[in-house]
Amino acid sequence: MKSKPSAVKVMPSHEDSIADLMQNLLLKIGEDPERQGLVRTPQRAEKALRFLTSGYEMDIASIVNGALFDETCDEMVVVKDIEFYSMCEHHVLPFFGTMHVAYLPNNKVIGLSKIPRIVDMFARRLQLQERLTHQVAETLQDVLQPKGVGVICEARHFCMMMRGVEKQHSGTVTSAMLGGFRERKETRDEFLSLVSARNHPFY
Ligand SMILES: [Zn+2]
Repeated sequence: MKSKPSAVKVMPSHEDSIADLMQNLLLKIGEDPERQGLVRTPQRAEKALRFLTSGYEMDIASIVNGALFDETCDEMVVVKDIEFYSMCEHHVLPFFGTMHVAYLPNNKVIGLSKIPRIVDMFARRLQLQERLTHQVAETLQDVLQPKGVGVICEARHFCMMMRGVEKQHSGTVTSAMLGGFRERKETRDEFLSLVSARNHPFY
């Protein structure tokens, strides 16, 4: 630890680690960072925060890693109920939910497991739900050049549930529709009906 936190006001410097800042934060909210349960909290919190924001370090090329395949299939591909956990950039509080991602192949498909990883790459950053939804759609559009991409994101925000309006049961839905999903109502309807079919065919 570089600097011992004290009650006097010390401006954080660029040299402070996240753990140092967290130690200072514990003091600022009126806690005693020396008590047993909190002794290692700054280090644990740093580790957690680094994981929750690890999306900044990820890049699309190493995620896709060649998992693009020529395929004449032109039926809609849908990956639904992709869990995600993100942090709102306005309050640095979690928001989480599910994302449904679809595309219309244009002689090319992507390994299905890559889609949740693309979601994680953007979710593990400070985010807005609207931007997260669009970034996933636009990234798939760039990588696959498909005939269209549709993304629907359903989320619940801790900043709404725990503070402010305290609406524990309200959800937020955002969507991004590109290409055929934007132009054709039938395509959107097909996507929506596949996504809302709640009874799973496998069990
Ligand atoms: Zn918020």
